[in-house]
Amino acid sequence: MSKRPMPQFFEPDTQSFWDATKEKKLLYQDCVDCDEVVFTPRAHCTICGSDKLVEKESKGEGTVYTYSVVRQNRNPAFADLGAYALAYIDLDEGFRMLSNVVNVENPLTDVSIGQRVRVVFEEQEEGDYLIPLFEPI
Ligand SMILES: [Zn+2]
Repeated sequence: MSKRPMPQFFEPDTQSFWDATKEKKLLYQDCVDCDEVVFTPRAHCTICGSDKLVEKESKGEGTVYTYSVVRQNRNPAFADLGAYALAYIDLDEGFRMLSNVVNVENPLTDVSIGQRVRVVFEEQEEGDYLIPLFEPI
């Protein structure tokens, strides 16, 4: 259980993404007109501006593009975490997302660029939306 800050719902562009987290699904979008992968979810394609975007479910596996270890976060929601790895994850479907690498003994030594990871969903103290995080495969 965690108490991370959450969006204010209803959230027009990302509501379906968050709804899918309740079923432990990680969604991204594909543009029908130009085939571009779009993330984070939005109303229009970031390349061609089309509004013909379809949602797809990611397998939730990818690679650590880069990361940093936060040793201390004074935000009360993160204070109990101790040191944690903040990372950009390149998902196999072709989008990049900012998240944490969790379930490692020591984030200073157990996370690396190029490391294979898979999504895990973290329950929150309030609400039933889950936060997508990543752990080593
Ligand atoms: Zn497009």
